[in-house]
Amino acid sequence: MSDKFYITTPIYYPSNKLTLGNCYTTVVCDAIARFHKMMGDDVFFLTGTDEHGQKIEKRAKEAGKFEMEFLNEIIADTKDLWKNLNIEYDKFIRTTDAEHEAAVKKIFKILYDKGEIYKAHYHGKYCTPCESFWTEEQLVDGKCPDCGRDVYDADEECYNFRLSKYTDKILELYKTHPEFLEPQSRVSEMVNNFLKNGLTDLCVTRKSVKWGVPVEWDPEHTIYVWIDALSNYITALGAFSDNDENFKKYWPANVHVIGKEIVRFHAIIWPAILMALELPLPKQVYGHGWMLIGGGKLSKSKDAGKKEIFDPRVLIERYGSDSVRNFIIGNIPFGQDGPYSQEIFLNSYNTNLANNVGNLVSRTVGMIQKYNGGVIDNTSALEPEDIAFKENVRQLRDLCIKYMVDMKPTQSYKTAISIIEACNGYTDQVAPWRLQKTKTRKLDSTLSFGCLQRHNLKPILFCFLSFQTK
Ligand SMILES: [Zn+2]
Repeated sequence: MSDKFYITTPIYYPSNKLTLGNCYTTVVCDAIARFHKMMGDDVFFLTGTDEHGQKIEKRAKEAGKFEMEFLNEIIADTKDLWKNLNIEYDKFIRTTDAEHEAAVKKIFKILYDKGEIYKAHYHGKYCTPCESFWTEEQLVDGKCPDCGRDVYDADEECYNFRLSKYTDKILELYKTHPEFLEPQSRVSEMVNNFLKNGLTDLCVTRKSVKWGVPVEWDPEHTIYVWIDALSNYITALGAFSDNDENFKKYWPANVHVIGKEIVRFHAIIWPAILMALELPLPKQVYGHGWMLIGGGKLSKSKDAGKKEIFDPRVLIERYGSDSVRNFIIGNIPFGQDGPYSQEIFLNSYNTNLANNVGNLVSRTVGMIQKYNGGVIDNTSALEPEDIAFKENVRQLRDLCIKYMVDMKPTQSYKTAISIIEACNGYTDQVAPWRLQKTKTRKLDSTLSFGCLQRHNLKPILFCFLSFQTK
Protein backbone atom coordinates (compact mmCIF):
# COMPACT_ATOMS: atom_id res chain seq x y z
CA MET A 1 0.00 0.00 0.00
CA SER A 2 1.43 3.34 -0.96
CA ASP A 3 1.29 6.39 1.24
CA LYS A 4 0.47 9.74 -0.25
CA PHE A 5 3.17 12.36 0.07
CA TYR A 6 2.52 16.04 -0.64
CA ILE A 7 5.55 18.35 -0.66
CA THR A 8 5.78 22.02 -1.65
CA THR A 9 8.34 24.73 -2.31
CA PRO A 10 7.24 28.32 -1.67
CA ILE A 11 5.84 30.16 -4.66
CA TYR A 12 8.63 32.39 -5.93
CA TYR A 13 8.56 36.04 -6.84
CA PRO A 14 8.85 36.18 -10.64
CA SER A 15 12.40 36.94 -11.67
CA ASN A 16 14.51 36.15 -14.68
CA LYS A 17 17.58 36.45 -12.51
CA LEU A 18 17.02 33.45 -10.27
CA THR A 19 20.18 32.74 -8.32
CA LEU A 20 21.75 29.60 -6.97
CA GLY A 21 20.04 30.45 -3.68
CA ASN A 22 16.63 30.32 -5.41
CA CYS A 23 17.45 26.83 -6.66
CA TYR A 24 18.13 25.59 -3.14
CA THR A 25 14.60 24.79 -1.96
CA THR A 26 13.50 23.42 -5.32
CA VAL A 27 16.44 21.03 -5.69
CA VAL A 28 16.08 19.72 -2.12
CA CYS A 29 12.31 19.25 -2.55
CA ASP A 30 12.94 17.45 -5.83
CA ALA A 31 15.34 15.04 -4.09
CA ILE A 32 12.85 14.37 -1.29
CA ALA A 33 10.00 13.90 -3.80
CA ARG A 34 12.11 11.48 -5.88
CA PHE A 35 12.97 9.55 -2.73
CA HIS A 36 9.32 9.08 -1.81
CA LYS A 37 8.54 8.02 -5.38
CA MET A 38 11.34 5.46 -5.13
CA MET A 39 9.78 4.15 -1.91
CA GLY A 40 6.52 3.66 -3.78
CA ASP A 41 4.61 6.59 -2.31
CA ASP A 42 1.98 8.48 -4.25
CA VAL A 43 3.81 11.82 -4.48
CA PHE A 44 2.54 15.29 -5.37
CA PHE A 45 5.28 17.91 -5.68
CA LEU A 46 4.15 21.52 -6.04
CA THR A 47 6.08 24.63 -6.99
CA GLY A 48 5.08 27.91 -8.63
CA THR A 49 5.14 31.68 -8.69
CA ASP A 50 3.58 34.52 -6.70
CA GLU A 51 2.58 36.96 -9.42
CA HIS A 52 0.46 39.70 -7.87
CA GLY A 53 1.36 43.06 -6.37
CA GLN A 54 2.50 46.54 -7.08
CA LYS A 55 6.05 45.70 -8.08
CA ILE A 56 4.89 43.49 -10.95
CA GLU A 57 2.56 46.26 -12.11
CA LYS A 58 5.47 48.68 -12.05
CA ARG A 59 8.03 46.42 -13.70
CA ALA A 60 5.61 45.50 -16.51
CA LYS A 61 4.96 49.19 -17.12
CA GLU A 62 8.68 49.94 -17.23
CA ALA A 63 9.13 47.14 -19.75
CA GLY A 64 6.28 48.61 -21.83
CA LYS A 65 4.25 45.42 -21.55
CA PHE A 66 0.92 44.21 -20.24
CA GLU A 67 1.30 42.38 -16.93
CA MET A 68 0.47 38.92 -18.28
CA GLU A 69 2.75 39.33 -21.29
CA PHE A 70 5.54 40.46 -18.98
CA LEU A 71 4.93 37.57 -16.57
CA ASN A 72 4.58 34.86 -19.21
CA GLU A 73 8.10 35.53 -20.46
CA ILE A 74 9.59 35.29 -16.98
CA ILE A 75 7.63 32.18 -16.09
CA ALA A 76 8.73 30.44 -19.29
CA ASP A 77 12.28 31.26 -18.28
CA THR A 78 11.77 29.89 -14.74
CA LYS A 79 10.25 26.66 -16.05
CA ASP A 80 13.19 26.37 -18.39
CA LEU A 81 15.62 26.62 -15.47
CA TRP A 82 13.76 23.91 -13.54
CA LYS A 83 13.82 21.73 -16.65
CA ASN A 84 17.57 22.20 -16.99
CA LEU A 85 17.97 21.19 -13.34
CA ASN A 86 15.82 18.10 -13.96
CA ILE A 87 13.20 19.20 -11.45
CA GLU A 88 10.23 16.83 -11.70
CA TYR A 89 7.35 18.79 -10.18
CA ASP A 90 3.76 17.61 -10.51
CA LYS A 91 2.24 21.06 -10.75
CA PHE A 92 3.49 24.58 -11.34
CA ILE A 93 0.91 26.95 -9.87
CA ARG A 94 0.72 30.61 -10.86
CA THR A 95 -1.30 32.88 -8.60
CA THR A 96 -2.67 34.47 -11.79
CA ASP A 97 -4.29 31.13 -12.73
CA ALA A 98 -8.06 31.61 -13.05
CA GLU A 99 -8.81 28.63 -10.77
CA HIS A 100 -6.55 30.02 -8.07
CA GLU A 101 -8.08 33.51 -8.26
CA ALA A 102 -11.62 32.09 -8.08
CA ALA A 103 -10.73 29.97 -5.03
CA VAL A 104 -9.05 32.92 -3.28
CA LYS A 105 -12.23 34.97 -3.70
CA LYS A 106 -14.23 32.15 -2.11
CA ILE A 107 -11.77 31.76 0.76
CA PHE A 108 -11.90 35.49 1.45
CA LYS A 109 -15.70 35.46 1.45
CA ILE A 110 -15.87 32.46 3.81
CA LEU A 111 -13.47 34.13 6.24
CA TYR A 112 -15.44 37.37 6.06
CA ASP A 113 -18.77 35.60 6.63
CA LYS A 114 -17.29 33.81 9.63
CA GLY A 115 -16.20 37.13 11.11
CA GLU A 116 -12.51 36.19 10.77
CA ILE A 117 -11.96 39.18 8.49
CA TYR A 118 -13.33 42.64 9.27
CA LYS A 119 -13.08 46.13 7.81
CA ALA A 120 -10.62 48.44 9.55
CA HIS A 121 -8.06 51.16 9.05
CA TYR A 122 -4.43 50.45 8.38
CA HIS A 123 -2.08 52.58 10.46
CA GLY A 124 1.53 52.37 9.57
CA LYS A 125 4.34 53.80 7.47
CA TYR A 126 4.36 54.38 3.75
CA CYS A 127 7.21 54.82 1.27
CA THR A 128 5.98 56.87 -1.69
CA PRO A 129 8.68 55.96 -4.25
CA CYS A 130 8.30 52.25 -3.46
CA GLU A 131 4.54 52.52 -2.94
CA SER A 132 4.94 50.15 -0.02
CA PHE A 133 3.45 49.94 3.45
CA TRP A 134 5.69 49.08 6.36
CA THR A 135 5.17 48.49 10.03
CA GLU A 136 7.33 50.34 12.56
CA GLU A 137 9.31 47.11 13.19
CA GLN A 138 10.11 46.61 9.52
CA LEU A 139 11.83 49.99 9.17
CA VAL A 140 15.61 50.13 9.10
CA ASP A 141 16.85 53.11 11.16
CA GLY A 142 13.42 54.64 10.69
CA LYS A 143 13.70 54.49 6.87
CA CYS A 144 12.19 52.33 4.12
CA PRO A 145 13.88 48.90 4.26
CA ASP A 146 13.80 48.65 0.45
CA CYS A 147 15.19 51.99 -0.69
CA GLY A 148 16.36 53.72 2.51
CA ARG A 149 14.21 56.81 1.91
CA ASP A 150 11.99 58.63 4.44
CA VAL A 151 8.60 57.10 5.17
CA TYR A 152 5.31 58.82 6.06
CA ASP A 153 2.45 57.98 8.40
CA ALA A 154 -0.23 56.20 6.45
CA ASP A 155 -3.85 55.56 7.16
CA GLU A 156 -5.80 53.47 4.67
CA GLU A 157 -9.09 51.61 4.82
CA CYS A 158 -8.47 47.85 4.65
CA TYR A 159 -9.68 44.43 5.71
CA ASN A 160 -7.99 42.80 8.68
CA PHE A 161 -7.65 39.12 9.54
CA ARG A 162 -8.13 38.33 13.25
CA LEU A 163 -4.65 36.87 13.69
CA SER A 164 -4.55 38.05 17.33
CA LYS A 165 -7.05 35.45 18.46
CA TYR A 166 -4.72 32.64 17.34
CA THR A 167 -1.73 33.38 19.61
CA ASP A 168 -2.59 30.68 22.15
CA LYS A 169 -3.71 28.21 19.52
CA ILE A 170 -0.40 28.47 17.66
CA LEU A 171 1.55 28.08 20.93
CA GLU A 172 -0.57 25.03 21.71
CA LEU A 173 0.13 23.63 18.24
CA TYR A 174 3.91 23.85 18.80
CA LYS A 175 3.50 22.16 22.17
CA THR A 176 1.26 19.29 21.09
CA HIS A 177 2.97 18.77 17.70
CA PRO A 178 6.69 19.40 18.22
CA GLU A 179 7.32 18.01 14.72
CA PHE A 180 5.17 20.75 13.15
CA LEU A 181 8.04 23.21 12.88
CA GLU A 182 11.56 22.01 12.09
CA PRO A 183 14.38 22.42 12.80
CA GLN A 184 13.58 22.95 16.48
CA SER A 185 15.59 26.18 16.67
CA ARG A 186 12.88 27.87 14.56
CA VAL A 187 10.28 27.26 17.28
CA SER A 188 12.01 29.45 19.84
CA GLU A 189 12.55 32.13 17.15
CA MET A 190 8.80 32.23 16.52
CA VAL A 191 7.89 32.18 20.20
CA ASN A 192 10.38 34.84 21.26
CA ASN A 193 10.04 37.17 18.28
CA PHE A 194 6.31 37.06 17.62
CA LEU A 195 4.13 34.94 19.88
CA LYS A 196 5.41 35.86 23.35
CA ASN A 197 3.95 39.37 23.19
CA GLY A 198 0.79 38.30 21.40
CA LEU A 199 -0.01 38.52 17.70
CA THR A 200 -1.67 41.57 16.16
CA ASP A 201 -4.37 41.47 13.50
CA LEU A 202 -3.10 41.39 9.95
CA CYS A 203 -4.00 43.72 7.08
CA VAL A 204 -4.98 41.41 4.20
CA THR A 205 -6.11 43.87 1.49
CA ARG A 206 -4.67 46.96 -0.22
CA LYS A 207 -6.48 49.77 -1.92
CA SER A 208 -3.51 51.12 -3.85
CA VAL A 209 -2.68 47.79 -5.52
CA LYS A 210 -4.57 47.11 -8.70
CA TRP A 211 -2.72 43.99 -9.90
CA GLY A 212 -4.33 41.44 -7.60
CA VAL A 213 -7.51 39.54 -6.78
CA PRO A 214 -10.31 42.03 -6.04
CA VAL A 215 -12.63 41.60 -3.05
CA GLU A 216 -15.86 40.61 -4.77
CA TRP A 217 -18.25 42.91 -2.94
CA ASP A 218 -15.75 45.73 -2.50
CA PRO A 219 -13.62 45.80 -5.66
CA GLU A 220 -11.64 48.89 -4.66
CA HIS A 221 -9.77 46.47 -2.41
CA THR A 222 -7.46 43.76 -3.67
CA ILE A 223 -6.61 40.70 -1.58
CA TYR A 224 -3.01 41.32 -0.67
CA VAL A 225 -0.17 38.83 -0.25
CA TRP A 226 -1.14 36.58 2.66
CA ILE A 227 -4.40 34.97 1.68
CA ASP A 228 -3.60 35.10 -2.02
CA ALA A 229 -0.11 33.61 -1.76
CA LEU A 230 -0.43 31.11 1.10
CA SER A 231 -3.67 29.64 -0.24
CA ASN A 232 -1.77 28.33 -3.27
CA TYR A 233 -0.93 25.19 -1.28
CA ILE A 234 -4.59 24.18 -1.26
CA THR A 235 -5.93 25.87 -4.41
CA ALA A 236 -3.26 24.00 -6.43
CA LEU A 237 -5.07 20.81 -5.36
CA GLY A 238 -8.43 22.21 -6.41
CA ALA A 239 -9.70 23.27 -2.97
CA PHE A 240 -12.82 25.42 -3.21
CA SER A 241 -13.43 24.37 -6.80
CA ASP A 242 -15.66 21.79 -8.48
CA ASN A 243 -12.66 19.59 -9.07
CA ASP A 244 -11.27 19.02 -5.58
CA GLU A 245 -10.30 15.35 -5.84
CA ASN A 246 -6.62 16.09 -5.36
CA PHE A 247 -7.40 18.25 -2.36
CA LYS A 248 -9.32 15.42 -0.72
CA LYS A 249 -6.53 13.02 -1.58
CA TYR A 250 -3.36 14.96 -0.76
CA TRP A 251 -4.26 17.54 1.88
CA PRO A 252 -2.89 18.02 4.52
CA ALA A 253 0.62 18.49 3.10
CA ASN A 254 3.35 16.30 4.52
CA VAL A 255 5.81 19.16 4.39
CA HIS A 256 6.13 22.77 3.27
CA VAL A 257 9.85 23.31 2.67
CA ILE A 258 10.78 27.00 2.91
CA GLY A 259 13.71 29.32 3.60
CA LYS A 260 14.06 30.51 7.18
CA GLU A 261 13.18 34.11 6.21
CA ILE A 262 9.54 33.12 5.63
CA VAL A 263 9.00 30.82 8.60
CA ARG A 264 6.66 33.34 10.28
CA PHE A 265 4.27 33.28 7.31
CA HIS A 266 4.16 29.49 7.22
CA ALA A 267 4.32 28.61 10.91
CA ILE A 268 2.05 31.36 12.26
CA ILE A 269 -0.11 33.06 9.62
CA TRP A 270 -0.80 29.99 7.45
CA PRO A 271 -1.92 27.67 10.28
CA ALA A 272 -4.07 30.53 11.63
CA ILE A 273 -5.79 30.93 8.25
CA LEU A 274 -6.36 27.17 8.06
CA MET A 275 -7.74 27.09 11.61
CA ALA A 276 -10.10 29.92 10.66
CA LEU A 277 -11.21 27.86 7.63
CA GLU A 278 -11.52 24.79 9.88
CA LEU A 279 -9.17 22.81 7.65
CA PRO A 280 -6.45 20.34 8.71
CA LEU A 281 -2.96 21.78 9.19
CA PRO A 282 0.14 20.70 7.25
CA LYS A 283 2.07 18.01 9.10
CA GLN A 284 5.33 19.91 8.93
CA VAL A 285 6.90 23.23 8.03
CA TYR A 286 10.65 22.90 7.46
CA GLY A 287 12.63 26.17 7.50
CA HIS A 288 16.02 25.50 5.91
CA GLY A 289 19.06 27.76 6.17
CA TRP A 290 20.70 30.04 3.66
CA MET A 291 23.42 29.65 1.13
CA LEU A 292 26.00 32.20 2.14
CA ILE A 293 28.35 33.77 -0.35
CA GLY A 294 31.96 34.29 0.69
CA GLY A 295 31.91 32.25 3.88
CA GLY A 296 29.26 34.10 5.86
CA LYS A 297 28.83 37.47 4.27
CA LEU A 298 28.70 38.72 0.76
CA SER A 299 32.29 39.45 -0.16
CA LYS A 300 32.00 42.05 -2.86
CA SER A 301 35.66 42.83 -3.29
CA LYS A 302 36.69 39.20 -3.48
CA ASP A 303 34.01 38.09 -5.88
CA ALA A 304 33.70 41.27 -7.93
CA GLY A 305 33.56 40.54 -11.64
CA LYS A 306 32.73 36.90 -10.98
CA LYS A 307 29.03 37.48 -10.63
CA GLU A 308 28.23 34.93 -13.30
CA ILE A 309 29.47 32.14 -11.04
CA PHE A 310 26.38 32.62 -8.86
CA ASP A 311 24.15 32.25 -11.91
CA PRO A 312 22.84 28.67 -11.92
CA ARG A 313 22.45 28.81 -15.72
CA VAL A 314 26.16 29.44 -16.16
CA LEU A 315 27.03 26.60 -13.78
CA ILE A 316 24.65 24.19 -15.52
CA GLU A 317 26.00 25.17 -18.93
CA ARG A 318 29.59 24.74 -17.80
CA TYR A 319 29.44 21.73 -15.46
CA GLY A 320 26.06 20.05 -15.98
CA SER A 321 22.94 20.10 -13.83
CA ASP A 322 24.27 17.47 -11.45
CA SER A 323 27.07 19.82 -10.42
CA VAL A 324 24.44 22.20 -9.01
CA ARG A 325 22.38 19.41 -7.45
CA ASN A 326 25.52 17.90 -5.92
CA PHE A 327 26.61 21.22 -4.43
CA ILE A 328 23.22 22.11 -2.98
CA ILE A 329 22.43 18.74 -1.44
CA GLY A 330 25.93 17.68 -0.45
CA ASN A 331 27.45 20.85 0.92
CA ILE A 332 24.87 22.80 2.87
CA PRO A 333 23.71 20.87 5.94
CA PHE A 334 19.93 20.91 5.55
CA GLY A 335 18.44 23.21 8.16
CA GLN A 336 21.62 25.24 8.65
CA ASP A 337 23.42 27.97 6.73
CA GLY A 338 26.29 26.95 4.49
CA PRO A 339 28.83 28.79 2.38
CA TYR A 340 29.05 28.95 -1.40
CA SER A 341 32.29 29.67 -3.17
CA GLN A 342 33.59 28.60 -6.53
CA GLU A 343 36.33 26.68 -4.75
CA ILE A 344 33.89 24.66 -2.62
CA PHE A 345 31.68 24.12 -5.66
CA LEU A 346 34.51 22.75 -7.81
CA ASN A 347 36.07 20.69 -5.01
CA SER A 348 32.76 19.05 -4.33
CA TYR A 349 32.23 18.45 -8.05
CA ASN A 350 35.64 16.83 -8.44
CA THR A 351 35.45 14.73 -5.29
CA ASN A 352 31.89 13.44 -5.49
CA LEU A 353 31.04 13.43 -9.17
CA ALA A 354 34.30 13.05 -11.08
CA ASN A 355 36.45 10.95 -8.72
CA ASN A 356 33.71 8.89 -7.10
CA VAL A 357 30.55 8.41 -9.14
CA GLY A 358 32.09 9.07 -12.55
CA ASN A 359 35.18 6.99 -11.89
CA LEU A 360 33.25 3.98 -10.59
CA VAL A 361 30.79 3.93 -13.44
CA SER A 362 33.33 4.46 -16.22
CA ARG A 363 35.94 1.98 -14.97
CA THR A 364 33.38 -0.75 -14.23
CA VAL A 365 31.62 -0.38 -17.55
CA GLY A 366 35.05 -0.30 -19.24
CA MET A 367 36.20 -3.51 -17.57
CA ILE A 368 32.95 -5.34 -18.24
CA GLN A 369 33.34 -4.43 -21.90
CA LYS A 370 37.00 -5.36 -22.03
CA TYR A 371 37.10 -8.56 -19.97
CA ASN A 372 33.57 -9.91 -20.35
CA GLY A 373 32.36 -8.70 -23.71
CA GLY A 374 29.87 -6.33 -22.08
CA VAL A 375 28.04 -9.09 -20.22
CA ILE A 376 27.76 -9.36 -16.48
CA ASP A 377 26.55 -12.29 -14.45
CA ASN A 378 24.86 -10.95 -11.35
CA THR A 379 24.08 -14.40 -10.01
CA SER A 380 27.67 -15.63 -9.76
CA ALA A 381 28.72 -17.28 -6.51
CA LEU A 382 30.05 -15.00 -3.79
CA GLU A 383 33.27 -15.43 -1.89
CA PRO A 384 33.35 -14.72 1.86
CA GLU A 385 34.87 -11.28 1.40
CA ASP A 386 32.20 -10.45 -1.20
CA ILE A 387 29.53 -11.37 1.32
CA ALA A 388 31.04 -9.16 4.02
CA PHE A 389 31.31 -6.25 1.58
CA LYS A 390 27.78 -6.75 0.36
CA GLU A 391 26.49 -6.65 3.93
CA ASN A 392 28.43 -3.46 4.60
CA VAL A 393 26.85 -1.79 1.55
CA ARG A 394 23.41 -2.98 2.57
CA GLN A 395 23.76 -1.35 5.98
CA LEU A 396 24.92 1.92 4.46
CA ARG A 397 22.05 1.81 2.01
CA ASP A 398 19.57 1.39 4.88
CA LEU A 399 21.18 4.38 6.54
CA CYS A 400 20.66 6.47 3.36
CA ILE A 401 16.97 5.62 3.50
CA LYS A 402 16.64 6.36 7.20
CA TYR A 403 18.25 9.78 6.76
CA MET A 404 15.81 10.68 3.98
CA VAL A 405 12.81 9.57 6.02
CA ASP A 406 14.13 11.80 8.82
CA MET A 407 14.47 14.79 6.41
CA LYS A 408 18.26 14.71 6.46
CA PRO A 409 19.07 14.81 2.73
CA THR A 410 22.63 16.06 3.25
CA GLN A 411 23.57 13.12 5.47
CA SER A 412 21.79 10.73 3.16
CA TYR A 413 23.67 11.98 0.11
CA LYS A 414 27.00 11.89 1.94
CA THR A 415 26.29 8.30 2.91
CA ALA A 416 25.44 7.44 -0.71
CA ILE A 417 28.76 8.93 -1.80
CA SER A 418 30.55 6.90 0.89
CA ILE A 419 29.06 3.73 -0.63
CA ILE A 420 30.47 4.72 -4.01
CA GLU A 421 33.82 5.31 -2.31
CA ALA A 422 33.63 1.85 -0.78
CA CYS A 423 32.82 0.28 -4.17
CA ASN A 424 35.84 2.02 -5.69
CA GLY A 425 37.99 0.83 -2.79
CA TYR A 426 36.73 -2.71 -3.21
CA THR A 427 37.49 -2.70 -6.90
CA ASP A 428 41.02 -1.47 -6.15
CA GLN A 429 41.45 -4.20 -3.57
CA VAL A 430 40.30 -7.16 -5.66
CA ALA A 431 41.89 -5.72 -8.81
CA PRO A 432 39.87 -7.33 -11.63
CA TRP A 433 42.66 -6.40 -14.06
CA ARG A 434 44.87 -8.95 -12.29
CA LEU A 435 42.11 -11.52 -11.88
CA GLN A 436 41.39 -11.63 -15.57
CA LYS A 437 44.96 -12.84 -16.18
CA THR A 438 45.17 -15.54 -13.53
CA LYS A 439 41.51 -16.47 -13.30
CA THR A 440 42.01 -17.23 -9.61
CA ARG A 441 38.63 -15.80 -8.75
CA LYS A 442 35.47 -15.64 -10.62
CA LEU A 443 35.71 -12.41 -12.53
CA ASP A 444 31.98 -11.94 -12.82
CA SER A 445 31.23 -11.60 -9.14
CA THR A 446 34.05 -9.11 -8.67
CA LEU A 447 33.15 -6.95 -11.60
CA SER A 448 29.52 -6.90 -10.66
CA PHE A 449 30.42 -5.39 -7.32
CA GLY A 450 31.43 -2.23 -9.06
CA CYS A 451 27.95 -2.09 -10.55
CA LEU A 452 25.41 0.25 -9.04
CA GLN A 453 22.72 -2.25 -10.00
CA ARG A 454 24.20 -5.08 -7.99
CA HIS A 455 23.66 -3.10 -4.80
CA ASN A 456 20.47 -1.48 -5.99
CA LEU A 457 22.24 1.86 -5.64
CA LYS A 458 21.02 3.55 -8.76
CA PRO A 459 17.56 4.40 -7.36
CA ILE A 460 19.18 5.95 -4.26
CA LEU A 461 21.63 8.03 -6.28
CA PHE A 462 18.84 9.04 -8.62
CA CYS A 463 17.11 10.78 -5.69
CA PHE A 464 19.96 13.28 -5.72
CA LEU A 465 21.42 13.25 -9.20
CA SER A 466 20.11 12.81 -12.72
CA PHE A 467 23.33 11.38 -14.12
CA GLN A 468 23.65 14.33 -16.41
CA THR A 469 27.09 15.65 -15.63
CA LYS A 470 29.18 17.09 -18.37
ZN1 LIG B 1 11.20 52.87 -0.39
